[in-house]
Amino acid sequence: GVARIPLIAGNWKMNLDHLQSIAFVQKLAWALKDAKHAFGDVEVAVFPPFTDLRSVQTLIAADKLELAHGAQDVSMHDSGAYTGEISGAFLSALACRYVIIGHSERRQYHHEDDEIVAKKTVAALRHGVTPVVCVGETAEDLETHGPSAVPMAQLRVVLDALEADADIVVAYEPVWAIGSGQAATPEQAQQVCAALRTTIAEVLSEDAAARTRIIYGGSVKSSNIAGFMNQKDVDGALVGGASLDVDEFAAIARFRQ
Ligand code: PEP
Repeated sequence: GVARIPLIAGNWKMNLDHLQSIAFVQKLAWALKDAKHAFGDVEVAVFPPFTDLRSVQTLIAADKLELAHGAQDVSMHDSGAYTGEISGAFLSALACRYVIIGHSERRQYHHEDDEIVAKKTVAALRHGVTPVVCVGETAEDLETHGPSAVPMAQLRVVLDALEADADIVVAYEPVWAIGSGQAATPEQAQQVCAALRTTIAEVLSEDAAARTRIIYGGSVKSSNIAGFMNQKDVDGALVGGASLDVDEFAAIARFRQ
C-alpha cells in the first residue's frame, strides 16, 4: 500500500504571542534534535496564532528546523473588503504548509457550517496550502446517530467541492473528546477514521483514500498516543492542550520510542 507519513500537529489555539512562539519553537526543535533517526519519518507541525506566523517562519528557515508550520483558519476569499480576515495567499507567502479548517471551535463560536468549510478548503488549495479539514460529532450526535454518520456527512460536503487529486489532511476530532481529558479509545478512532477513508474512496477515488492522511484529535497525550498510532487508519494526531508543553508535545512526536 501507500506509505502515509505520520503527522503530529500542535494546535496552539489562542495561546503564545510572537515572542513566546520563538522561545517555544527553539525549545521544541532542541527536544526533537536527536529524534529524527530514532523515530524515522514523522512530520511535526505547529499551528500558532496568525500574529506569530512570520516569527515562526523566520526562525524555522534561519535555523533550518525540521518543523512545518500552519495557520488555524483562512478566509474563503483571496483579497478585498473582508475586514479582519486572512487570505490563503498571505499564508502561502509565509510558507505555511498547512491550515486548519473547520475546527469545532470555529464551527461553534463562528457559525462555520460545512459549506463554509468546503469553500475555505478550496481557497487553501488554490494557494497551495494543504487544508487540515476537521470533522467530528458532538456527544448528542453520537447518541442520536452513532459514531460515524455525522463526521462522514461533514466530510462529504467538503469532498464534493474538490478535484479528485486534491491533497488534504482530514482530522477526526470528536467534539466530546476535545479539551475534555476524555479521549476516544483507539478502537473508536480507528472505526471512524476507516469510515472517513471509505467516504474519500467513494467521493474522490481509491487512490485518494489510500494516500490521504487521516489524523485523530481529542485529549491526545504522550500516555495515549501509541494506542492511536497502532491503528491502521490513524495517520497522526491533532493535539491541542498537550501541544503547549514542549516536553509533552515532543514525547507525543516520539511515539515510536
Ligand atoms: C483540538 O483542539 O484540536 C484538540 C484536539 O484539543 P485537545 O488536545 O486539548 O483535546
